[in-house]
Amino acid sequence: MAEILILGGGIAGISAAWHARRAGREAVIFEAKERWGGLLDHFELGGFRFDKAVHLAFGSNEEYRKVLEMTEYITHRSEPYNYEQGCWLKHPVQNNLYPLPAQEKVEAIKSFIGRPDQKADVDYRQWLIHQFGEVIAGRFPARYTEKYWTVPAENLSTEWIGNRLYRPTLDEVLLGAMTDQTPLTYYLPEMFYPRQGGFRTFLEPLVEGLDLRTGKEAVWIDPHKKYVECSDGSREYYQHLVSSVPLPELIGMLERTPPVVKETAATLWATSIALVSLGFKTPQAGKHLWFYIYDRDILPSRVHAPYLKSPDNVPPGFSSLQFEIYYSRNKPLNLTPEELVEHVITAAEKMKLVLRSDIVVTDYRTLPYGNVVFDQGMVKRREFVLDHVRQCGLIPVGRFGEWDYHWAEQSFLSGGKIETLPGMV
Ligand SMILES: Cc1cc2nc3c(=O)[nH]c(=O)nc-3n(C[C@H](O)[C@H](O)[C@H](O)COP(=O)(O)OP(=O)(O)OC[C@H]3O[C@@H](n4cnc5c(N)ncnc54)[C@H](O)[C@@H]3O)c2cc1C
Repeated sequence: MAEILILGGGIAGISAAWHARRAGREAVIFEAKERWGGLLDHFELGGFRFDKAVHLAFGSNEEYRKVLEMTEYITHRSEPYNYEQGCWLKHPVQNNLYPLPAQEKVEAIKSFIGRPDQKADVDYRQWLIHQFGEVIAGRFPARYTEKYWTVPAENLSTEWIGNRLYRPTLDEVLLGAMTDQTPLTYYLPEMFYPRQGGFRTFLEPLVEGLDLRTGKEAVWIDPHKKYVECSDGSREYYQHLVSSVPLPELIGMLERTPPVVKETAATLWATSIALVSLGFKTPQAGKHLWFYIYDRDILPSRVHAPYLKSPDNVPPGFSSLQFEIYYSRNKPLNLTPEELVEHVITAAEKMKLVLRSDIVVTDYRTLPYGNVVFDQGMVKRREFVLDHVRQCGLIPVGRFGEWDYHWAEQSFLSGGKIETLPGMV
């Protein structure tokens, strides 16, 4: 019998076990895969290390920052870029229009000045138009939404936005249209990355001494008799159960779930990500730590440079890039892996990032869960499903366990919810 059984060895599950141990409680983690780390894990190929998508660390929570401080890291200034039709613009685009032709800037600024007032209960497209005007909204964030969220902007709610999109003043828009010497306005000025070992290294101090069992996939949960069954046929009884398993999958495993909860859970969906990772025999592939692509005919939405995150991610004198292509049940991938890799290499040459002849490593893989999609009414439906999970006595944690847009910091903090258990300090 486990005092506290935790499903999932990503940062949320690890954080839950770490908080439990700190309070003197016994916790065991079951992780389905052979390695722990979840989305924060990496893979290695021919001396190149690739995280699973961009992954840089940031956060203001004191406890999370203390965890980061336990590892030697590199500090990066947040200076992402944007690519659109051969043009490179600083981020965020709305106050960095400088490289665009003069007439296009005039149209964008006129539309910014004439933007409509904010109404209550708007969808994401209306919100964008209110913030930036029709021209900027339509050309940049709304187009990006179709690539990244795989739905038109009007299908999304605004509950996930927070401070993620910068809302400039007219002065800032005008300045950014006249010069590229604009101040940094990205919502996070700095980001951190381990000097060695990839993002997962940040988690190593937390994992030390935990009872973390890999290759243990939970497939069935009886919350009344309080046991979990695994795909290896084993059964583990528990006093308390914490789950970072994706919420719709968890519902499918829970004994005696009412049909209405199952039906509601089935309406929750997330994007998936196809990752194309390339290693090069040259020391420089592009020059940006990460950038966004708006062109519809280039499938990746975002690209990052692992070799710039840390030189430890590549053999000396080599470089690397990773391309993120988003798909979903709403927008399936219509290309084979080979076709997608070819598409990415052609696009990388078109964007003048690299030469095909310099490629020494190529990898294609997919992440089934990328971003949970905040379509209209999702938050209410999710809360209904989470209520059921809590009534079953489970503690849902993490990005997919809580079905939220959590960065690593929030996923770490959600693991800390275990402190609400009786007897915890
Ligand atoms: C594209 C992308 C970019 C991101 N970039 C950043 C960034 O730059 N900075 C940042 O702070 N955050 C970033 N994030 C967010 C960050 O990755 C997540 O918040 C965090 O990794 C989620 O941790 P988690 O433990 O909740 O989930 P996961 O990491 O998904 O862990 C869940 C674990 O549960 C396991 N599991 C699933 N089902 C079962 C089962 N049935 N039985 C047992 N185990 C199971 C899985 O194998 C997995 O290991 C990014 C996310 C994405 C998708």
